[in-house]
Amino acid sequence: MLGKLLVIGFGPGSFEHMTKRAQDAIQESDCIIGYKTYVELIKDLLIDQEIISTGMSEEVSRAQAAVHLAEEGKTVAVISSGDAGVYGMAGLVYEVLIEKGWKEATGVSVEVIPGVSAINSCASLLGAPIMHDACTISLSDHLTPWDLIEKRIDAAAQADFVITLYNPKSGRRTRQIQEAQRILLNYRSPATPVGLVKSAYRDRQHIVITDLKHMLDHDIGMLTTVVIGNSTTFLYDNKMITPRGYQRKYTLNSTEQRLKPHERLRHENEPWALHKGKNDMVQQPKKWKEKNPERSSLQIALEALQKVEKNFDKSTNNKQIQQKQVVVNNPITSIFELAVSPGIANKKFTPKQMMILAEVVGDEGSMEYTPHHQIILRIPTSNPDLITKKLDDVGFLLEPIGDVFQLKACDFCEGEKKDSIPYAEELHEKLSGLDLPKELKVGFNGCGMACFGAVNEDIGIIFRKGKFDLFLGAKTVGRTAHPGLPVAEGIEPEKIVEVIEKIVYEYKEKGHPNERFFKYFKRVGNVQGYTYKDMAPKIEIEPAPCGD
Ligand code: SAH
Repeated sequence: MLGKLLVIGFGPGSFEHMTKRAQDAIQESDCIIGYKTYVELIKDLLIDQEIISTGMSEEVSRAQAAVHLAEEGKTVAVISSGDAGVYGMAGLVYEVLIEKGWKEATGVSVEVIPGVSAINSCASLLGAPIMHDACTISLSDHLTPWDLIEKRIDAAAQADFVITLYNPKSGRRTRQIQEAQRILLNYRSPATPVGLVKSAYRDRQHIVITDLKHMLDHDIGMLTTVVIGNSTTFLYDNKMITPRGYQRKYTLNSTEQRLKPHERLRHENEPWALHKGKNDMVQQPKKWKEKNPERSSLQIALEALQKVEKNFDKSTNNKQIQQKQVVVNNPITSIFELAVSPGIANKKFTPKQMMILAEVVGDEGSMEYTPHHQIILRIPTSNPDLITKKLDDVGFLLEPIGDVFQLKACDFCEGEKKDSIPYAEELHEKLSGLDLPKELKVGFNGCGMACFGAVNEDIGIIFRKGKFDLFLGAKTVGRTAHPGLPVAEGIEPEKIVEVIEKIVYEYKEKGHPNERFFKYFKRVGNVQGYTYKDMAPKIEIEPAPCGD
């Protein structure tokens, strides 16, 4: 009877962070093989297992002993801290088995039991530093040539990975971490956040948050994991946080993400992503540029110096005059989005406005013409204030987009019917851009013709014979779209702003997230004294003409 190999990662060290399967597996085993310190860590779980503990650098003999015992029919637990497959025993066990011609179908059975690796346990104590593309690099050069480790640090630093260094330092290996810091500083700012976690979830747990420049001023040892942030990692209240992405979308007056999940994935909302089609053409020159970066004057000077020195002294060590590599610096350009229109009553753009629009949008941004008297702009920028200033200066009306209050006034017959314009402007002043459960469009028309369709908006206001008519709860979209319910006639002009404010604030407070105004009106049945009546048309599906 062949035995079984249980290759167990027991996590950072505490029971609570060990998986249930790892605990069970330890108890199922006849014998335990592991490094002394690790056996000590799990000893409370042991019943009467035979313990074979060895010194640290005896991994190969540990793996061989484990295979041997399993071949004799024993259930053998081979333990590693963290995850057995991350700088642990799993690979070695397989290597020993393969050496012996082991096959899964006929050989001893092997179960690798995953555990929480140091990258995860240490990150959890630091905040959320991993979050984005990350890698692990072990600085131990006992089994890996230092040249290769150096290359990996260099490549990872260049590619802006969050980097977790395992085995950063030991009594004898002290230079490796200094070299790692030196390479990293070629690409990353000295202020890059760095987390040092010693003995995560063990008795002597110790956490330090520092930066790339100062990381070596602190104690780093065999039980430390070093987490180096990428160019966007930041510190907040002594937590190390890496944002989920490099790009952010934000809108005027709001730092909140306004795009709905389905909207976020649209190409125009992710201009930085790799898209098929149109973008291929845009991206080709960029790729070429990346491969052939423009040379700075310093570079040109250094190259010239190199040539001169070569001529004078062939033995010059090129390394000495190699330019220090550029620090990776990714200022977060965000997509700034906002809506512009020529005004509340004014529907005419000036040529100057159109020119400024083209200038601020540039080649990278987009302009979207919408059914709501607005053009939506989406512009990659790290300086939204400059954009709003330019647009403001040429008289554009700027508004946030998304789930906000928006006034859609008519043109008041190009000013011929101007009496109600001040009320429209007051409403706009007081309510436009107000955050609401769902977008709310208020139609405001200056005469009974209501040719800009106020009755078809969520709230309709029509000025007629010196007073206002009010319509509530149009269903603006869908097959069962319908106009608003006429709820009042003859509202005194001095009352209209207050009436609308009360309605809007009631909806703001009591509407459910994402609940359109007409749905809210229908649900509550009464808004500020105005009672709901069903206006939905009954749609009957006609029978098929052939009775089929
Ligand atoms: N298999 C383990 C890694 C073993 S290599 C895992 O997946 O976590 C040993 C290195 O792991 C240490 O030098 C240290 O960098 C890291 N490490 C392991 N356990 C740790 C802990 N509890 N706290 C901090 N670092 C730890």
